[in-house]
Amino acid sequence: MGVEKPQVKHTQLFINNEWRNSKSGKTFPTMNPSTGEKICDIQEGDKADVDLAVSAARSAFKLGSKWRTMDASLRGRLLSKFADLMERDKAYLIKLETLDNGMPFPYCQWSVEESIRAIRYYAGWADKIHGKTIPMNGNFFAYTRVEPIGVCALILPWNFPILLFGWKFGPSLAAGNTVVMKPAEQTSLTAIYLCSLVKEAGFPVGVFNCIPGYGPTAGAALAEHNDVDKLSFTGSTEVGKIIQIASGKSNLKRVTLELGGKSPLVVMDDADLDLAEKIYDKFVAKSREIAAARVVGDPLDEKTAQGPQIDEEQFKKILELIESGKKEGAKLETGGKKVGSKGFFIQPTVFSNVTDGMRIAKEEIFGPVQSIIKFKTMEEVIERSNRTNYGLASGIMTKDLEKALTYMQGVQAGTVWINTFLSFSPQTPLGGYKMSGYGRELGEDGLSEYCEIKTVMMAMDHKNS
Ligand code: ADP
Repeated sequence: MGVEKPQVKHTQLFINNEWRNSKSGKTFPTMNPSTGEKICDIQEGDKADVDLAVSAARSAFKLGSKWRTMDASLRGRLLSKFADLMERDKAYLIKLETLDNGMPFPYCQWSVEESIRAIRYYAGWADKIHGKTIPMNGNFFAYTRVEPIGVCALILPWNFPILLFGWKFGPSLAAGNTVVMKPAEQTSLTAIYLCSLVKEAGFPVGVFNCIPGYGPTAGAALAEHNDVDKLSFTGSTEVGKIIQIASGKSNLKRVTLELGGKSPLVVMDDADLDLAEKIYDKFVAKSREIAAARVVGDPLDEKTAQGPQIDEEQFKKILELIESGKKEGAKLETGGKKVGSKGFFIQPTVFSNVTDGMRIAKEEIFGPVQSIIKFKTMEEVIERSNRTNYGLASGIMTKDLEKALTYMQGVQAGTVWINTFLSFSPQTPLGGYKMSGYGRELGEDGLSEYCEIKTVMMAMDHKNS
């Protein structure tokens, strides 16, 4: 049984709590990755629209504005109200995300629920953001005030659109900033729909604005903007570098970057490290079996375990990396080809006999490709796990606590999973070492990325001291 396709309700820019067309009058198509066909056209924002949205966000941030004078607890209540509205429209949001992104329905369900959880988590923070009183030298009264940074640009990727929406929407607004968001051009639909809930929840005019459009135009206009105070980006390392440079060339806006990853999962032979090779063949056989049995197809069909890739570019990139694996001497255990002639489907693919120098071992694939690599000692696996430019995450499977903790300490990664993989929660920070970016999302650390600290020192009357 499949799930019915959702209707698209909104396709415009959202500025000052109003829907509007792009100034240029241009639109761009958003495609269904399962069929390669167009879902609908969306208004295409670029620099002129970004200027308008930034100026709306700036006005909403002015001292004395409704947003700046609102009690922090009320800010929290608005975020909770927004999360309640997402909950009300959950079934629709899951379907819309599945249609637009192509992830199987259960993953989209998890994404929507996790996004709601993150917004609720940050709703609770809104009135608990405060500084310290500090006993400084001399006769002074000194304290710190934690303030919002100002106008925040939030640039989203296509991989987990609604999840990343929540991860950035929650903390930026809980801290009292105003926002201009740009969703990824491949997956704008859920972000645009959520704008209608911003209005319904009752956020003041200009607090949250959304400009769908392309990276080199709308995205770059945000990165280069002199009146944007902070930019939070999730996407490729390549674009992360461009954004960093744009910040340096404009107003040194604060930048947090969550970029690519190549996160190894280490599976130990608990009986004896020297016998690790013994489990290799068994592990490969099992992986091959699971991959070959995996149901690939329409993400709205409940039998489906794997949907399509997001677009033709990504689809071609993955197939090209698979070819490189074959050419460089890895053994293709199963998969390796496209599925069908419509949409962007790729067979679940497993490679064995992979060595560190191969592209499939070094580059982020972002597709259904498993590379299984042999190792012998703990020292070696730590060294080899770190032999990558990335440092987003890493995992280890073992019952031996000492091995788990030794690996955890040695590996250069923002997250280490022990006997689990890809676990997230709003309370725990997430981010990368090395070229996986910097700054953190989620948790208290994620909130502080949206805050400035002001130190206040007041001289006291010396005669009375
Ligand atoms: P991926 O390579 O994972 O597709 P990208 O890094 O290209 O992801 O895109 C992530 C987000 O960054 C998207 O919203 C995209 O539109 C935006 N983007 C792409 N290029 C730029 C740019 N030059 N400046 C700002 N944003 C950009």
